[in-house]
Amino acid sequence: MFGGSFRVARIFGIDIEIHPSWLLILAFVSYSLSEGVFPDQYEGWSTTEYWVVGITAAVLLFVTVLIHELAHALVAKRRGLEVPRITLFIFGGVSHLARQPASAGEEFQIAAAGPATSLVIAVISGGLALLFQEVDDRGEAIFMYLSLVNLALAIFNILPGFPLDGGRVLRSIAWKKTGSFRRATRVAAGVGEVFGYVLIAGGFFLLLGGGLLNGLWFMFIGWFLLGAARNETANLQLEGVLKRLTARDVMQTDFPTITPGMPIQDVVEEHMVGQGERAVMVALGGAVSGILTVTDVRRVPKDEWRNTPAQRVMTPRADIVTVQPTTPAVEVLLLLGERKLNQVPVLEEGRMVGLVTRREILERLQLAETLGENQGAADEPAAAPTSP
Ligand SMILES: [Zn+2]
Repeated sequence: MFGGSFRVARIFGIDIEIHPSWLLILAFVSYSLSEGVFPDQYEGWSTTEYWVVGITAAVLLFVTVLIHELAHALVAKRRGLEVPRITLFIFGGVSHLARQPASAGEEFQIAAAGPATSLVIAVISGGLALLFQEVDDRGEAIFMYLSLVNLALAIFNILPGFPLDGGRVLRSIAWKKTGSFRRATRVAAGVGEVFGYVLIAGGFFLLLGGGLLNGLWFMFIGWFLLGAARNETANLQLEGVLKRLTARDVMQTDFPTITPGMPIQDVVEEHMVGQGERAVMVALGGAVSGILTVTDVRRVPKDEWRNTPAQRVMTPRADIVTVQPTTPAVEVLLLLGERKLNQVPVLEEGRMVGLVTRREILERLQLAETLGENQGAADEPAAAPTSP
Protein backbone atom coordinates (compact mmCIF):
# COMPACT_ATOMS: atom_id res chain seq x y z
CA MET A 1 0.00 0.00 0.00
CA PHE A 2 2.92 2.36 0.65
CA GLY A 3 4.92 1.58 -2.48
CA GLY A 4 6.79 4.56 -3.85
CA SER A 5 7.47 6.10 -0.43
CA PHE A 6 10.78 7.88 -0.04
CA ARG A 7 12.90 8.33 3.08
CA VAL A 8 13.39 11.87 4.30
CA ALA A 9 14.93 11.44 7.74
CA ARG A 10 15.96 9.02 10.46
CA ILE A 11 14.90 9.80 14.04
CA PHE A 12 15.69 7.55 17.03
CA GLY A 13 16.70 4.84 14.58
CA ILE A 14 13.34 5.01 12.79
CA ASP A 15 13.16 5.77 9.06
CA ILE A 16 10.74 8.61 8.37
CA GLU A 17 9.16 8.10 4.95
CA ILE A 18 6.85 10.21 2.84
CA HIS A 19 4.35 8.67 0.44
CA PRO A 20 3.70 10.75 -2.72
CA SER A 21 0.02 11.09 -1.69
CA TRP A 22 1.21 13.15 1.28
CA LEU A 23 2.41 15.93 -1.06
CA LEU A 24 -1.15 16.21 -2.38
CA ILE A 25 -2.66 16.70 1.06
CA LEU A 26 0.13 19.13 2.06
CA ALA A 27 -0.63 21.24 -1.03
CA PHE A 28 -4.37 21.02 -0.41
CA VAL A 29 -4.17 22.01 3.26
CA SER A 30 -1.79 24.88 2.42
CA TYR A 31 -4.19 26.10 -0.25
CA SER A 32 -7.34 25.90 1.84
CA LEU A 33 -5.68 27.67 4.79
CA SER A 34 -4.13 30.44 2.65
CA GLU A 35 -7.14 31.07 0.42
CA GLY A 36 -10.03 30.17 2.73
CA VAL A 37 -9.57 29.71 6.46
CA PHE A 38 -7.14 32.51 7.31
CA PRO A 39 -8.60 35.21 4.99
CA ASP A 40 -12.02 34.50 6.56
CA GLN A 41 -10.71 34.86 10.12
CA TYR A 42 -8.01 37.50 9.84
CA GLU A 43 -8.22 40.70 7.83
CA GLY A 44 -5.59 42.99 6.49
CA TRP A 45 -2.75 40.60 5.63
CA SER A 46 -1.07 40.67 2.23
CA THR A 47 -1.54 37.69 -0.12
CA THR A 48 2.06 36.66 0.57
CA GLU A 49 1.41 36.74 4.32
CA TYR A 50 -1.67 34.51 3.95
CA TRP A 51 0.39 32.00 2.00
CA VAL A 52 3.45 32.08 4.26
CA VAL A 53 1.25 31.63 7.33
CA GLY A 54 -0.87 28.96 5.54
CA ILE A 55 2.11 26.89 4.41
CA THR A 56 3.80 27.23 7.82
CA ALA A 57 0.65 26.02 9.59
CA ALA A 58 0.26 23.10 7.13
CA VAL A 59 3.87 21.97 7.57
CA LEU A 60 3.60 22.30 11.38
CA LEU A 61 0.38 20.24 11.27
CA PHE A 62 2.31 17.38 9.72
CA VAL A 63 5.15 17.86 12.19
CA THR A 64 2.59 17.32 14.97
CA VAL A 65 1.21 14.24 13.17
CA LEU A 66 4.78 12.94 13.06
CA ILE A 67 5.22 13.64 16.80
CA HIS A 68 1.99 11.66 17.41
CA GLU A 69 3.47 8.72 15.49
CA LEU A 70 6.82 9.04 17.25
CA ALA A 71 4.97 8.81 20.56
CA HIS A 72 3.54 5.41 19.48
CA ALA A 73 6.93 4.32 18.17
CA LEU A 74 8.96 5.35 21.21
CA VAL A 75 6.62 3.60 23.63
CA ALA A 76 6.81 0.50 21.41
CA LYS A 77 10.60 0.63 21.28
CA ARG A 78 10.85 1.07 25.02
CA ARG A 79 8.88 -2.16 25.33
CA GLY A 80 11.26 -3.96 23.01
CA LEU A 81 9.05 -3.82 19.92
CA GLU A 82 11.01 -2.58 16.91
CA VAL A 83 9.58 0.15 14.67
CA PRO A 84 11.57 0.15 11.44
CA ARG A 85 9.71 3.07 9.89
CA ILE A 86 6.97 5.69 10.00
CA THR A 87 5.18 6.67 6.80
CA LEU A 88 3.34 9.96 6.28
CA PHE A 89 0.59 9.64 3.68
CA ILE A 90 -2.64 11.29 2.58
CA PHE A 91 -4.60 10.32 5.73
CA GLY A 92 -1.88 11.11 8.23
CA GLY A 93 0.75 8.74 9.55
CA VAL A 94 1.43 5.05 10.06
CA SER A 95 3.93 3.49 12.46
CA HIS A 96 5.02 0.13 11.09
CA LEU A 97 5.52 -2.25 14.00
CA ALA A 98 7.79 -5.24 13.48
CA ARG A 99 5.24 -7.55 15.14
CA GLN A 100 1.88 -7.49 16.88
CA PRO A 101 1.99 -6.37 20.53
CA ALA A 102 2.75 -9.28 22.85
CA SER A 103 0.28 -8.40 25.58
CA ALA A 104 -2.87 -6.37 26.21
CA GLY A 105 -0.92 -3.99 28.43
CA GLU A 106 1.69 -3.40 25.75
CA GLU A 107 -0.96 -2.70 23.12
CA PHE A 108 -2.81 -0.32 25.44
CA GLN A 109 0.27 1.76 26.18
CA ILE A 110 1.41 1.98 22.56
CA ALA A 111 -2.08 2.92 21.32
CA ALA A 112 -2.89 5.44 24.05
CA ALA A 113 0.42 7.31 23.65
CA GLY A 114 -0.69 8.83 20.31
CA PRO A 115 -3.95 10.57 21.24
CA ALA A 116 -2.48 11.59 24.62
CA THR A 117 0.37 13.29 22.78
CA SER A 118 -2.04 15.05 20.38
CA LEU A 119 -3.98 16.31 23.37
CA VAL A 120 -0.83 17.70 25.00
CA ILE A 121 0.12 19.38 21.69
CA ALA A 122 -3.40 20.88 21.52
CA VAL A 123 -3.05 22.35 25.02
CA ILE A 124 0.46 23.73 24.44
CA SER A 125 -0.54 25.22 21.05
CA GLY A 126 -3.64 26.76 22.67
CA GLY A 127 -1.42 28.39 25.30
CA LEU A 128 0.92 29.73 22.62
CA ALA A 129 -2.06 31.08 20.66
CA LEU A 130 -3.15 33.03 23.76
CA LEU A 131 0.38 34.39 24.22
CA PHE A 132 0.47 35.57 20.59
CA GLN A 133 -3.01 37.09 20.75
CA GLU A 134 -1.84 40.56 21.77
CA VAL A 135 1.51 40.38 19.98
CA ASP A 136 1.07 38.99 16.47
CA ASP A 137 -2.14 37.64 14.95
CA ARG A 138 -0.18 35.55 12.43
CA GLY A 139 1.37 33.55 15.29
CA GLU A 140 -2.04 33.37 16.91
CA ALA A 141 -3.54 32.02 13.67
CA ILE A 142 -0.94 29.25 13.33
CA PHE A 143 -1.12 28.04 16.93
CA MET A 144 -4.90 28.29 17.18
CA TYR A 145 -5.17 26.15 14.06
CA LEU A 146 -2.65 23.61 15.43
CA SER A 147 -4.51 23.51 18.73
CA LEU A 148 -7.91 22.85 17.12
CA VAL A 149 -6.65 20.27 14.63
CA ASN A 150 -4.69 18.35 17.26
CA LEU A 151 -7.75 18.35 19.50
CA ALA A 152 -9.76 16.98 16.56
CA LEU A 153 -7.02 14.40 15.91
CA ALA A 154 -7.05 13.26 19.54
CA ILE A 155 -10.85 12.93 19.57
CA PHE A 156 -11.11 11.25 16.18
CA ASN A 157 -8.33 8.79 16.92
CA ILE A 158 -9.86 7.73 20.21
CA LEU A 159 -13.05 6.49 18.44
CA PRO A 160 -13.13 2.82 19.45
CA GLY A 161 -12.88 1.23 15.99
CA PHE A 162 -9.91 -0.44 14.36
CA PRO A 163 -7.52 0.79 12.87
CA LEU A 164 -7.86 3.98 14.93
CA ASP A 165 -5.92 4.20 18.18
CA GLY A 166 -9.19 3.92 20.08
CA GLY A 167 -9.82 0.63 18.27
CA ARG A 168 -6.48 -0.62 19.56
CA VAL A 169 -7.32 0.53 23.06
CA LEU A 170 -10.66 -1.30 22.73
CA ARG A 171 -8.84 -4.39 21.49
CA SER A 172 -6.41 -4.31 24.40
CA ILE A 173 -9.32 -4.09 26.86
CA ALA A 174 -11.28 -6.88 25.14
CA TRP A 175 -8.06 -8.90 24.95
CA LYS A 176 -7.53 -8.50 28.69
CA LYS A 177 -11.18 -9.41 29.39
CA THR A 178 -11.47 -12.42 27.06
CA GLY A 179 -7.85 -13.53 27.04
CA SER A 180 -8.15 -14.00 23.26
CA PHE A 181 -6.28 -11.73 20.88
CA ARG A 182 -8.27 -13.10 17.95
CA ARG A 183 -11.66 -12.49 19.48
CA ALA A 184 -10.59 -9.00 20.61
CA THR A 185 -9.38 -8.16 17.10
CA ARG A 186 -12.67 -9.31 15.62
CA VAL A 187 -14.57 -7.00 18.00
CA ALA A 188 -12.38 -3.94 17.35
CA ALA A 189 -12.31 -4.53 13.59
CA GLY A 190 -16.10 -4.98 13.56
CA VAL A 191 -16.61 -1.62 15.27
CA GLY A 192 -14.05 -0.13 12.86
CA GLU A 193 -16.09 -1.35 9.89
CA VAL A 194 -19.19 0.30 11.37
CA PHE A 195 -17.32 3.62 11.69
CA GLY A 196 -16.14 3.23 8.11
CA TYR A 197 -19.74 2.87 6.90
CA VAL A 198 -20.92 5.77 9.11
CA LEU A 199 -18.25 8.07 7.64
CA ILE A 200 -19.09 7.03 4.09
CA ALA A 201 -22.81 7.62 4.71
CA GLY A 202 -22.12 10.92 6.51
CA GLY A 203 -19.89 12.04 3.65
CA PHE A 204 -22.60 11.13 1.17
CA PHE A 205 -25.15 13.32 2.98
CA LEU A 206 -22.64 16.18 3.17
CA LEU A 207 -22.19 15.77 -0.57
CA LEU A 208 -25.95 15.96 -1.15
CA GLY A 209 -26.06 19.05 1.06
CA GLY A 210 -23.58 20.80 -1.22
CA GLY A 211 -20.41 20.23 0.80
CA LEU A 212 -18.58 18.66 -2.11
CA LEU A 213 -14.99 18.58 -0.78
CA ASN A 214 -15.82 17.71 2.83
CA GLY A 215 -18.29 15.08 1.65
CA LEU A 216 -15.73 13.42 -0.60
CA TRP A 217 -13.08 13.68 2.10
CA PHE A 218 -15.29 11.95 4.68
CA MET A 219 -16.23 9.22 2.22
CA PHE A 220 -12.59 8.75 1.33
CA ILE A 221 -11.55 8.41 5.00
CA GLY A 222 -14.48 6.05 5.64
CA TRP A 223 -13.48 3.92 2.70
CA PHE A 224 -9.89 3.80 4.01
CA LEU A 225 -11.00 2.82 7.53
CA LEU A 226 -13.29 0.14 6.17
CA GLY A 227 -10.48 -1.35 4.10
CA ALA A 228 -8.02 -1.30 7.00
CA ALA A 229 -10.53 -2.88 9.40
CA ARG A 230 -11.34 -5.65 6.90
CA ASN A 231 -7.68 -6.19 6.19
CA GLU A 232 -7.03 -6.76 9.88
CA THR A 233 -9.72 -9.43 10.03
CA ALA A 234 -8.32 -11.01 6.87
CA ASN A 235 -4.78 -11.05 8.31
CA LEU A 236 -6.15 -12.75 11.37
CA GLN A 237 -7.75 -15.48 9.27
CA LEU A 238 -4.55 -15.81 7.30
CA GLU A 239 -2.47 -16.19 10.44
CA GLY A 240 -5.01 -18.66 11.77
CA VAL A 241 -4.84 -20.79 8.63
CA LEU A 242 -1.06 -20.67 8.44
CA LYS A 243 -0.62 -21.28 12.14
CA ARG A 244 -2.29 -24.66 11.89
CA LEU A 245 -0.07 -25.74 9.00
CA THR A 246 3.43 -27.15 9.35
CA ALA A 247 6.15 -27.78 6.77
CA ARG A 248 4.88 -31.36 6.46
CA ASP A 249 1.47 -30.07 5.32
CA VAL A 250 2.80 -27.85 2.57
CA MET A 251 5.82 -29.83 1.34
CA GLN A 252 5.92 -31.84 -1.85
CA THR A 253 7.24 -35.36 -1.33
CA ASP A 254 7.78 -36.28 -4.98
CA PHE A 255 10.60 -33.80 -5.41
CA PRO A 256 12.83 -34.49 -8.41
CA THR A 257 16.29 -35.96 -7.84
CA ILE A 258 19.26 -36.01 -10.19
CA THR A 259 22.77 -37.47 -10.05
CA PRO A 260 25.75 -35.17 -9.38
CA GLY A 261 27.24 -35.80 -12.83
CA MET A 262 24.14 -34.85 -14.85
CA PRO A 263 24.84 -31.93 -17.26
CA ILE A 264 22.73 -28.93 -16.34
CA GLN A 265 21.51 -28.74 -19.95
CA ASP A 266 19.64 -32.00 -19.30
CA VAL A 267 18.37 -30.75 -15.94
CA VAL A 268 16.95 -27.64 -17.61
CA GLU A 269 15.29 -29.61 -20.40
CA GLU A 270 13.88 -32.45 -18.31
CA HIS A 271 13.01 -30.79 -15.03
CA MET A 272 13.02 -27.01 -15.16
CA VAL A 273 11.51 -26.29 -18.58
CA GLY A 274 9.99 -29.76 -18.87
CA GLN A 275 8.30 -30.04 -15.47
CA GLY A 276 8.35 -26.44 -14.29
CA GLU A 277 10.55 -27.27 -11.29
CA ARG A 278 12.55 -24.39 -9.82
CA ALA A 279 14.86 -26.71 -7.87
CA VAL A 280 16.05 -30.33 -7.99
CA MET A 281 17.87 -32.35 -5.36
CA VAL A 282 21.29 -33.69 -6.24
CA ALA A 283 21.77 -37.13 -4.69
CA LEU A 284 23.76 -40.28 -5.17
CA GLY A 285 22.52 -43.56 -3.75
CA GLY A 286 20.10 -41.89 -1.35
CA ALA A 287 22.63 -39.44 0.08
CA VAL A 288 21.79 -35.81 -0.66
CA SER A 289 24.84 -33.89 -1.83
CA GLY A 290 23.20 -30.58 -2.69
CA ILE A 291 20.41 -28.69 -4.38
CA LEU A 292 20.42 -27.21 -7.88
CA THR A 293 18.16 -24.20 -8.41
CA VAL A 294 17.20 -22.00 -11.33
CA THR A 295 19.35 -19.29 -9.74
CA ASP A 296 22.40 -21.61 -9.73
CA VAL A 297 21.84 -22.47 -13.41
CA ARG A 298 21.50 -18.79 -14.40
CA ARG A 299 25.04 -18.13 -13.18
CA VAL A 300 26.40 -20.35 -15.97
CA PRO A 301 26.54 -19.05 -19.59
CA LYS A 302 24.09 -20.96 -21.79
CA ASP A 303 26.73 -22.40 -24.14
CA GLU A 304 28.44 -24.13 -21.19
CA TRP A 305 25.34 -25.90 -19.92
CA ARG A 306 26.08 -29.07 -21.85
CA ASN A 307 29.57 -29.42 -20.33
CA THR A 308 28.75 -28.40 -16.77
CA PRO A 309 27.83 -31.17 -14.31
CA ALA A 310 25.23 -30.31 -11.68
CA GLN A 311 27.60 -30.78 -8.78
CA ARG A 312 29.86 -27.97 -9.99
CA VAL A 313 27.22 -25.22 -9.64
CA MET A 314 24.82 -26.69 -7.08
CA THR A 315 24.48 -25.32 -3.57
CA PRO A 316 26.30 -27.98 -1.47
CA ARG A 317 24.52 -29.77 1.36
CA ALA A 318 26.46 -27.84 4.03
CA ASP A 319 25.16 -24.49 2.73
CA ILE A 320 21.52 -25.49 2.33
CA VAL A 321 19.01 -23.91 4.67
CA THR A 322 16.65 -26.66 5.85
CA VAL A 323 13.59 -27.00 8.05
CA GLN A 324 11.99 -29.77 10.10
CA PRO A 325 8.63 -31.37 9.17
CA THR A 326 7.21 -29.84 12.35
CA THR A 327 8.38 -26.28 11.58
CA PRO A 328 5.27 -24.02 11.39
CA ALA A 329 4.45 -22.89 7.85
CA VAL A 330 4.51 -19.26 9.05
CA GLU A 331 8.17 -19.65 10.02
CA VAL A 332 8.99 -21.32 6.73
CA LEU A 333 7.40 -18.40 4.87
CA LEU A 334 9.38 -15.87 6.93
CA LEU A 335 12.58 -17.86 6.33
CA LEU A 336 11.98 -17.91 2.55
CA GLY A 337 11.46 -14.15 2.62
CA GLU A 338 14.46 -13.39 4.82
CA ARG A 339 16.91 -15.54 2.87
CA LYS A 340 15.33 -14.65 -0.50
CA LEU A 341 14.87 -18.36 -1.26
CA ASN A 342 12.30 -19.99 -3.52
CA GLN A 343 12.35 -23.36 -1.79
CA VAL A 344 13.70 -25.09 1.27
CA PRO A 345 14.27 -28.85 1.79
CA VAL A 346 12.62 -30.58 4.74
CA LEU A 347 14.93 -32.90 6.68
CA GLU A 348 13.89 -35.53 9.19
CA GLU A 349 16.69 -37.21 11.12
CA GLY A 350 19.15 -36.11 8.46
CA ARG A 351 17.08 -37.60 5.63
CA MET A 352 15.34 -35.43 3.10
CA VAL A 353 11.61 -36.08 3.17
CA GLY A 354 10.24 -33.17 1.16
CA LEU A 355 10.61 -29.78 -0.42
CA VAL A 356 8.62 -26.65 0.47
CA THR A 357 8.38 -24.12 -2.33
CA ARG A 358 7.34 -20.51 -2.01
CA ARG A 359 4.82 -21.16 -4.77
CA GLU A 360 3.14 -23.93 -2.78
CA ILE A 361 2.80 -21.79 0.36
CA LEU A 362 1.46 -18.86 -1.64
CA GLU A 363 -1.10 -21.12 -3.29
CA ARG A 364 -2.25 -22.12 0.20
CA LEU A 365 -2.69 -18.46 1.02
CA GLN A 366 -4.80 -17.90 -2.06
CA LEU A 367 -6.85 -20.92 -1.09
CA ALA A 368 -7.65 -19.12 2.13
CA GLU A 369 -8.66 -16.18 -0.09
CA THR A 370 -6.82 -13.85 2.18
CA LEU A 371 -4.00 -11.80 0.88
CA GLY A 372 -2.56 -8.83 2.69
CA GLU A 373 0.43 -7.37 4.36
CA ASN A 374 1.25 -9.53 7.32
CA GLN A 375 2.41 -6.90 9.76
CA GLY A 376 1.08 -4.69 12.50
CA ALA A 377 0.55 -1.06 11.58
CA ALA A 378 -0.94 1.84 13.46
CA ASP A 379 -2.94 4.05 11.13
CA GLU A 380 -3.97 7.59 11.87
CA PRO A 381 -6.30 9.35 9.54
CA ALA A 382 -5.55 13.02 10.14
CA ALA A 383 -9.19 13.90 10.86
CA ALA A 384 -10.54 16.55 8.48
CA PRO A 385 -7.91 19.27 8.67
CA THR A 386 -9.01 20.77 5.38
CA SER A 387 -12.51 21.94 6.29
CA PRO A 388 -12.51 25.61 5.30
ZN1 LIG B 1 -2.12 7.16 16.63
